Amino acid sequence: MEIKAIRGFNDILPDEIGKWQFVEKTAREVFEGFGFSEIRIPILERTELFARGIGEATDIVEKEMYTFADKSGNSLTLRPEATASMARAYLEHQIYTFDPVAKFYCIGPMFRYERPQKGRYRQFYQIDAEVFGVDNPMVDAEIIVMLIHFLERVGLEKLELQINSLGCRKCRPRYRQEIINFLKKKSFQLCEDCQRRLETNPLRVFDCKVETCQAAIVDAPKVIDFIDRECQDHFGKVKEYLEAAGLTYILNPRMVRGLDYYTRTAFEVVSYQLGSQNAVTGGGRYDNLFQEIGGPDIPGIGFAIGMERLISLLPKDKVFIQHPHLFIAVLGDETIKKAYQLINQLHLEGIRAELDYEGKSLKSQMRRADKLKARYVLIMGEEELKKGRAVLRNMEDKSQEEIPIEGLLNALKEKVRRKV
Ligand SMILES: [Zn+2]
Ligand SMILES: [Zn+2]
Repeated sequence: MEIKAIRGFNDILPDEIGKWQFVEKTAREVFEGFGFSEIRIPILERTELFARGIGEATDIVEKEMYTFADKSGNSLTLRPEATASMARAYLEHQIYTFDPVAKFYCIGPMFRYERPQKGRYRQFYQIDAEVFGVDNPMVDAEIIVMLIHFLERVGLEKLELQINSLGCRKCRPRYRQEIINFLKKKSFQLCEDCQRRLETNPLRVFDCKVETCQAAIVDAPKVIDFIDRECQDHFGKVKEYLEAAGLTYILNPRMVRGLDYYTRTAFEVVSYQLGSQNAVTGGGRYDNLFQEIGGPDIPGIGFAIGMERLISLLPKDKVFIQHPHLFIAVLGDETIKKAYQLINQLHLEGIRAELDYEGKSLKSQMRRADKLKARYVLIMGEEELKKGRAVLRNMEDKSQEEIPIEGLLNALKEKVRRKV
């Protein structure tokens, strides 16, 4: 029997890879420009890290983690997100002793045992950026500015920035209690999960996809009405800094976040470019996370972008596939060695060139060049070679010219580069 990929695990094939590379390259350029450094964290961590760092009473931890025991009996989990691991690395290597501010980004696969759907996989990719060590609202604005700039640079349009404030460990519990009281009156409307979590994680209802749960919270109290003076000040400054950077935003009081360690600024970016509303990314401040995972009191803020979704929103007219610059069609045994030497030189110059390995006819070589969408074909025949020449065919306008073998490399470099 033929062996197939595991359900929910996806191959990213060469004809799509150009988009992925473009997005990753742009992320690196933009983030590095904003002072962020890449960090690469392991794919496996102790289960406890996510249980504490994401929260026990969440869908991710309760149902979606790939957790198993290794041969020593340790409970390990494939990372379902990156923030907890990045925070762990930051603590473990005491990066805060070097500088109080750490700006990291990370690109890679995450794993969640969710029901596979179109465009949704069990191994999916995220771009994460986090700032540890500062609670200054300027950083909240800075990371949002970076995010929007990145999304625009990859070509996303009709973006809307939504923001909210979730309060802090002093004022958030008051809101939490308010929501418990509110939901208790409506508990008959809630799904089993939400009923069960009513006391442990009441804010989780806001993220619940069940319709009756969504209906239950339509007129729920708004967190923004419960935040204390300090949180109001912080939020006010975030808004000022966003405005100073020329960004427009709308307030979304429904953005609450189911996890208790989330504090203060929360944000989401929504795209309207496909006619409907698509959440592209979300993030926020989590000043309680480090303490949850056993560390000191260190503030943090960050965002995660789902790459599959982002890639589905890239401009359709942009070409990401790499075609050969040049195809070398070879005729006659004598010519092959010459062609081989030439193609090696071209490759060293970074010119994407292909040739025929199978001794096919000129017609069939031209067909292959056409299928590969090569921009030029260099026809090296024995007759021409004796005269010290080869034929260069432009595949776009179908024009042909004879060019001398002498200095061929430079001539090709010149021609091909002109349009690279
Ligand atoms: Zn507060
Ligand atoms: Zn629910």
